[in-house]
Amino acid sequence: MNAGMKAVLMENLKTLKLSAMKRDLDSHLRQANQDKLGYDEFLLNLTEAEVATRKENGYKRRLSEAKFPLIKPFETFDFGAAPELDARLIQELAGCEYVQKARNVIFLGKSGTGKTHLATSLGIEACRNGVRTRFVTGCGLANELIEARDEKALGRITRRYAAYGLLIIDELGYVPFSREGGQLIFQILAERHERKPVIITSNMGFGDWTEIFGDANMTAALLDRVTHKAHVINCSWESYRLKETLKNKKRSPK
Ligand code: ADP
Ligand code: MG
Repeated sequence: MNAGMKAVLMENLKTLKLSAMKRDLDSHLRQANQDKLGYDEFLLNLTEAEVATRKENGYKRRLSEAKFPLIKPFETFDFGAAPELDARLIQELAGCEYVQKARNVIFLGKSGTGKTHLATSLGIEACRNGVRTRFVTGCGLANELIEARDEKALGRITRRYAAYGLLIIDELGYVPFSREGGQLIFQILAERHERKPVIITSNMGFGDWTEIFGDANMTAALLDRVTHKAHVINCSWESYRLKETLKNKKRSPK
C-alpha cells in the first residue's frame, strides 16, 4: 500500500473511531504479506482486534461504574470453605441467566460468611456479560436517595437506579433505615420488580426485616415482591474470617 493511500486509510479509521484497527493496521498488513493472506482473512483478523478491544474496554468501564468495594472474582472464592453452598446454583448464576429473567438473588447469613464476596463475584460476571451493574450498601443507597430528594434530584436518581441491568444492595439491615430512607428504597425495588434483578445481602432473616424498614405493612409488600421467584441462599456455615483466625492461631501458638 502506498503512503498516500495509507494516510487516507488511517484518517478514515480515525473518523470511524476504529482505534484498535488503526493501531493494529501495520502489523496486520505485514502479517498478511508474510503469510500471503487473502483480503477476506486480512479484514477478518483486523476487525477481530477491534471487537476484542471494545469488549475489554466495555468490561473495564462497567467494572469501574459498578463501584465494587473490592474486586473479588469467583477465582478467589474457596467453595471448600462454604460446604453447604450449592456450587451448581452459583455456577448457574454466574452464567447470568437470572439477569435476563429478572430473578433476584438474596444472600442471608452471619457476618464473614462470604455474602459480599459472592455478590461481588456475581456482579463481576454480570459486567463480563455486558450487564450495567451497580454495587451499593443499603445504608449508602438510603442516604443517596434522601440527599437526592432534598436536592430535588430524586426523579433522576430513581431513573438511574431503575436502569441498571443489575443492582446489588449489600448489607441490608446493618443499619436500620429512617422511615423515608426505607420508603425510598422500597420505591427503587418496586420499580425494578419483574423488570430488572437485584442481589441483596443481609445478616437478618426475612422475619426481622420489619426492623430494617420500620413499617410492617410496607415490609410485607416489599418482601412479597423481592422474594417472588428469587434465589434465596442461606449462608449458614462458619465465618471465613473466624476460621482463618483460628487456623493461624493453631499454626503459631503464643
Ligand atoms: P460477609 O459479607 O458475609 O460478612 P465477606 O464476603 O465480607 O462476608 O467475607 C469476609 C472475608 O472473607 C472477605 O475478605 C472475603 O473475601 C473472605 N471470604 C469469605 N468467604 C470466603 C471463601 N469461601 N473463599 C475465599 N474468601 C472468602
Ligand atoms: Mg458483607
